[in-house]
Amino acid sequence: MRNVVIIGSGCAGNTAAVYAARANLKPLVVSGHEAGGQLSLTTLVENFPGFPEGINGPDLVENIKKQAESFGAEYVHGAVLDAELSARPFRLKIEGEWTETRTVIVASGASARWLGLPSEQRLIGHGVSSCATCDGFFYRGKRIMVIGGGDSAMEEANFLTRFGQEVLLIHRRDEFRASKIMLDRARGNSKIQFLPSTVVEELHDVSKNLVTGARLRNLKTGRVWDEPVDGFFVAIGHIPNTAVFKGQIQTDADGYIISQGGARTNIPGVFHAGDVQDRVYRQAITAAGAGCMAAIEAERYLEAEGH
Ligand SMILES: Cc1cc2nc3c(=O)[nH]c(=O)nc-3n(C[C@H](O)[C@H](O)[C@H](O)COP(=O)(O)OP(=O)(O)OC[C@H]3O[C@@H](n4cnc5c(N)ncnc54)[C@H](O)[C@@H]3O)c2cc1C
Repeated sequence: MRNVVIIGSGCAGNTAAVYAARANLKPLVVSGHEAGGQLSLTTLVENFPGFPEGINGPDLVENIKKQAESFGAEYVHGAVLDAELSARPFRLKIEGEWTETRTVIVASGASARWLGLPSEQRLIGHGVSSCATCDGFFYRGKRIMVIGGGDSAMEEANFLTRFGQEVLLIHRRDEFRASKIMLDRARGNSKIQFLPSTVVEELHDVSKNLVTGARLRNLKTGRVWDEPVDGFFVAIGHIPNTAVFKGQIQTDADGYIISQGGARTNIPGVFHAGDVQDRVYRQAITAAGAGCMAAIEAERYLEAEGH
């Protein structure tokens, strides 16, 4: 029987592990199929406090993991494939095996939706990003492309005009899902150029390990051309990794966990941490802070239960 099982090894899960391990709870961390979480996809992180020169994303999460391990946290590979949270102890199926636990911290993140082009996947962290707050600063004076037609695409495009010389907004349809206010704001921004009914066919240049441009196709005219850009931001939404808890942990319509205050979910003893609940801030530091909160709540819950 475990005291705490932490699902996910990103900033939130690893930070929860540091706190839970230092509270002598010997947490088990299930790494998931993306060990290290989203930061393992990126290169330089310049906005995590404490690193004046910045730090590589994979190094940052690996350091937090080492810190947790030094206090006794245990990591297992694989993912939670099934969960039974309606009775105590909770039961989690980690790959093929069921594990029992008194508390659970869900830190399974929200994966960015990508276009799915092989060239895009190869260039993530090398000009391709899904986070303007994180990476906009690297594109001062540059030409930037944003993909999407919803509120987050408008927000990212507007934000990126603080840095970029020009922002091209690519959307496959003529109509936009974005709210009128967000759309009007983007339309009123002279640095944003709208390219509707347009899709991205390919990103250049994988051989240089750097974004230098994108091949576009206009769906109405059939015109195909290469557009030079330095940064490529995909803003077509995120998928919270909560499918495995469906019908048990309360989520909103998009699958984000609904918080009951602090780090609490609708199930006493099951806590949330990081992007799996946060559709607003989605930063490494907020995820780490949420991991801390979840571990403290788990510790207090266990104490109140007499463990
Ligand atoms: C390209 C890119 C660049 C970024 N740059 C920055 C930056 O510069 N600064 C910044 O502050 N933020 C940045 N971010 C955002 C930051 O990475 C996220 O906010 C942060 O990683 C969220 O942490 P998390 O632990 O909540 O989730 P994640 O990092 O998404 O981790 C989720 C973890 O859960 C695991 N998991 C999922 N499902 C299961 C399951 N069923 N069983 C077990 N495990 C599971 C995954 O394998 C993963 O380990 C960037 C994001 C991206 C994509």
